[in-house]
Amino acid sequence: MYIQDIIDELEQFAPSALKEDFDNVGLLIGDAQHEAKGVLITLDITEKIMDEAIERGCNLIVSHHPIMLSGVKRINGRNATERIIIKAIQNNISIYASHTNTDSVLNGVSGKMCEKLGLENCKILSPKKESLLKLVTFVPEEHADKVREAIFNAGAGKIGNYDACSYNTIGEGTFRAGDDTNPYVGEKGKLHSEKEVRVETILPTYLKGRVVKALLKAHPYEEVAYDLYPLANEWPTVGIGMVGELPEEIDEATFLNRLKNIFKVGCVRYTPILNKPIKRVALCGGSGSFLLGKAIVEKADAFVTGDFKYHQFADAEDQILVADIGHFESEQYTKEVFFEILTKKFSNFAIHLSNVNTNPVNYL
Ligand SMILES: [Zn+2]
Repeated sequence: MYIQDIIDELEQFAPSALKEDFDNVGLLIGDAQHEAKGVLITLDITEKIMDEAIERGCNLIVSHHPIMLSGVKRINGRNATERIIIKAIQNNISIYASHTNTDSVLNGVSGKMCEKLGLENCKILSPKKESLLKLVTFVPEEHADKVREAIFNAGAGKIGNYDACSYNTIGEGTFRAGDDTNPYVGEKGKLHSEKEVRVETILPTYLKGRVVKALLKAHPYEEVAYDLYPLANEWPTVGIGMVGELPEEIDEATFLNRLKNIFKVGCVRYTPILNKPIKRVALCGGSGSFLLGKAIVEKADAFVTGDFKYHQFADAEDQILVADIGHFESEQYTKEVFFEILTKKFSNFAIHLSNVNTNPVNYL
């Protein structure tokens, strides 16, 4: 088994293409064609994590936070990042990061928080925008099935839990083949009309290359007519944060204590108690304060995230209970997300959850 096989599994769950623009994900150090000997899963990479990987014989570290977010211009060992890079290369350890792409999928960072809190009817809090395309193509009737199948297999036609979604209308295509052609139907120099199906479907922008390639391969014509339109639709199954409901409403103090226990928080920081029961909960792993407005629009009773600043607490304006449970605490179960994906696929392989606490924050 190769490191690539492990990466393929993680990419299938949370494609790197779903990352935010500022982010740096994927295989950051190492060679995917090396044999995999063991995987260590962690939220952050510290020097202790490197030692743990070496001790446990793991040559791949899967982390949530990337070791290199912005450019590293020299590697002299002057800071932890540089020393980690040196140690990784010297010990043939590959490093793979799945960060905002794992934030963006339904069962990712925030989805895991929903699971821990027992939330139901969960959906994405802030769906991704401007990342879907409409594909329209025109196919001779007897080839429509084959073309549809090819583009669906390449990733087109998925809407929520439905796949193979398309709309098909029968019409007539016209064309005249030029001198240097080899037309599938019709004759050179003669105007031809052909009964064709207009096939319409939807696809994520990042799959454009793959889907168009599949279309061109499956379509019988020498010149394939197709249109790609950018869509203004939101992508309901991809985006940041989640919102869901507790099975039963509970009072605010019970809710805050539940957060403290489930997320093992040294100190929950929260906005004034509103004496309103908590049922609908919005949340976001990591630094989610920018989603407060979305949580209010979604009529959530509480918003749970990390890294809230002093003035941002005031923005709650008694409309919602904000609970800051800490960046690390909110994301700690992301390790389980990766562990579950990999152990499900590679049940007999050495996949370890790190024992090292990488939280740099302590509470008195
Ligand atoms: Zn984070």
